[in-house]
Amino acid sequence: MLKKLSSEITTATFILIISVSHSSCNSNEVHKNSIFEDTSAKPIKQPVVQVDADMAKFARKPFVYDSTKTYIYLTFDDGPDNGTRECFNICKKEGIKSTFFMIGRNVEGKRNKQLATDIRNDYPQTLIANHSYTHTNERYEYFYTHPDMAEKDFYKAQDSLNVPYKIIRLPGNNAWISQKGIKAHKLVKAVCNKLDSAGYNVIGWDVEWRFVRGSSYPVQTPTQFAAEVNYAAKGHSYTPKHIMILTHDRMFRTPNYADSLTKFIRIIKQNPNYVFETVDNYPNLTF
Ligand SMILES: [Zn+2]
Repeated sequence: MLKKLSSEITTATFILIISVSHSSCNSNEVHKNSIFEDTSAKPIKQPVVQVDADMAKFARKPFVYDSTKTYIYLTFDDGPDNGTRECFNICKKEGIKSTFFMIGRNVEGKRNKQLATDIRNDYPQTLIANHSYTHTNERYEYFYTHPDMAEKDFYKAQDSLNVPYKIIRLPGNNAWISQKGIKAHKLVKAVCNKLDSAGYNVIGWDVEWRFVRGSSYPVQTPTQFAAEVNYAAKGHSYTPKHIMILTHDRMFRTPNYADSLTKFIRIIKQNPNYVFETVDNYPNLTF
């Protein structure tokens, strides 16, 4: 059984090793900015996802959309950190599907590594996806103007997080890559071109549950934010009838705000036309 599954997966999507020649990265600049890993002398290699019995559940099955429904993709960025366990537990308790865009370096600690593993194991209810290794070290312009370095950063996260699909969200930038093409600000265009060539999907967002600078607590109340989702569902989204929601795990780290997340989910669940999905079932992705 294991052997059969492994060979199916191998021929499907999971083993792909591409070496890309490396020419344009300025190694002096990388040395000067030593917070980034200097791998400038090495070729860029895509990570190899280990094939084992666990991978069988990530084999793609055709997804059939119900045209009477609107799909809601609830995504949490920047974990695992404070708030991730709360968000995960709430989604499980409410019986909804969600996606966690995680940062690779956040799983260096044992506790967070376990949290990422728990979320990965929970698929298909919960999906883990790639939000870079360093989150640009909060130096977005430097990161995106060094596309070779940025590309390696995403591959490193893919590896350390053991992400099952080539699905990325760029840190600090609302960009999309799918079969529809690339939709991206000029700052991130070069990185997007590289990720697109390597077969990656990039997921932006339609609506953001914003947070207060400093405390990171939610700006909108659950009712206000649900109204924004309802507005997006009336034809104001990147793909009609598919609403991508951006939130951050840390917003819901205290019981009071964890309760806000529960309230929001319950408001959305009251509409029988809404269906929560994980982002791997977003239309027009490449696998
Ligand atoms: Zn982020």
